[in-house]
Amino acid sequence: MRILLVDDDPVSLATVQRVLENEQHSVMCCSNGEDAWLALQRENFEVVLSDWFLPGIDGLELCRRLRGIGGPIYTYFVIFTAIEGSDKMAEAISAGADDFLRKPIIPADLYARMEIAQRVLRMNDEVRRKSVEMEQLGGVLQVSNRRISEMFRNLPIPVVTIGDEGLIMEWNSAAESLFRLKTHEVWMKPLWEVIVSSRNQRAARELVWAALGTDMIANESWCYTLRDGRKPHLMISTFALKSPTGDVIGSAICMVDITQQKRLERELKVELKRSKDLSQSLEVKTEELQGKNMALQELSEQLELLATTDGLTGLNNYRTFKKKLNEAMTQAREQGMPLSIILTDVDKFKTFNDEFGHLVGDEVLRKVAAIFKTKIARTDHGFIGRYGGEEFVAILPHATRDEALEFAEILRAGVEKEHWPWRQVTSSFGIATWSPELDDEEEFVKAADTALYHAKESGRNRSWHFDQLPQNKAA
Ligand code: GH3
Ligand code: MG
Ligand code: MG
Repeated sequence: MRILLVDDDPVSLATVQRVLENEQHSVMCCSNGEDAWLALQRENFEVVLSDWFLPGIDGLELCRRLRGIGGPIYTYFVIFTAIEGSDKMAEAISAGADDFLRKPIIPADLYARMEIAQRVLRMNDEVRRKSVEMEQLGGVLQVSNRRISEMFRNLPIPVVTIGDEGLIMEWNSAAESLFRLKTHEVWMKPLWEVIVSSRNQRAARELVWAALGTDMIANESWCYTLRDGRKPHLMISTFALKSPTGDVIGSAICMVDITQQKRLERELKVELKRSKDLSQSLEVKTEELQGKNMALQELSEQLELLATTDGLTGLNNYRTFKKKLNEAMTQAREQGMPLSIILTDVDKFKTFNDEFGHLVGDEVLRKVAAIFKTKIARTDHGFIGRYGGEEFVAILPHATRDEALEFAEILRAGVEKEHWPWRQVTSSFGIATWSPELDDEEEFVKAADTALYHAKESGRNRSWHFDQLPQNKAA
């Protein structure tokens, strides 16, 4: 240690100096108070060992002056004196001394006292270092505190903290905006009295106790009328504020205003319901329409059938025949393919009706039609229809004159060979084959009719081709 030794007795000074230096201390000696005081103002000493009585400034005064200037480093001050008196020690200590020794100084005592001084100074150092650290930490805490309170204040969501009795401690700017109340208006007031109308204070009080009674509440929907009559929809989350020992000392309550989202949700729900209803009624309408469409289709199919078929026999009717003939003639004309038609008329049908009645007559027509239908089905693209009354007509695309004659014979034989329960039924056939000279529909049919007439004239139940007629042969 660096020690200032002050004593006006040179023998004592030298003795003590030796003892101290033996202990590896660095010692500066002064023989009076003035010099010592000057030395103390000039440099730092860890320990001052001073005699009480000195010429000029005495040891006690020296100690007072030293304590008066303070300074960054603490100096351990020991006063020694040969004067007896128990009050001396107390006087010295109250002047600022740290220790008191009696003269003559015993080296072992001195050694022990220097040990104590060293210990005290070390502790003093430690305390000073800690206090500097604490000061620095205090500064950091202050900055961090400012930042946290700034952040709290400017959080974009309303946050309020309450103490363990539900009184408002902190209230940020967003809370001020939401509840339209400044911090000083709500501070230390019960939260339930501040945020809702008197009617809803029970709910608010329950919220406060729930928040204080649990570690956290996550996203609880909350919708009550405020003091000013507004009724925002809030999403509330809380977390407990605890002391270092873990006791709940309050709660932080965050309130997100979701009124807008809720309104949109409601509108969306209404819209969804409306569009669902619409789509359901659309579905019903579509089904109705589909039903109607199907009925229409069936109707149109029936109409088509009615328009194209003959009611009694189910064969194609005259109208269909005319259409088919036109197509077949166009094809024959354009492709140069053969085309023949066969006209047939049931023989003596009037007398059949007269003899067996009209209904049986109808039955015969149906049977004849069925025979023709079966036969025509075996041809390539053959067509059979009811020409009218008891007359039928067949179109045979690709059939030459001979092939047509042959097929007419098949039809004729078909009728003739059928089992007829009433009386034999026969039919006569007239055939015509298309040629550029017979390119007119009427002419073409008329040719077949002429051949049929000839078949009737020549005895019925036979087939005649227009070409076979005597006048045509002659031509
Ligand atoms: P032909 O051998 O010369 O043909 O003698 P036909 O008696 O068959 O000829 P006509 O033209 O004199 O008589 C045809 C008869 O066919 C007259 C009519 O009563 C009958 N007829 C026409 N259409 C139908 C029908 O749909 N049902 C019934 N039952 N008879 C019909
Ligand atoms: Mg007839
Ligand atoms: Mg007839």
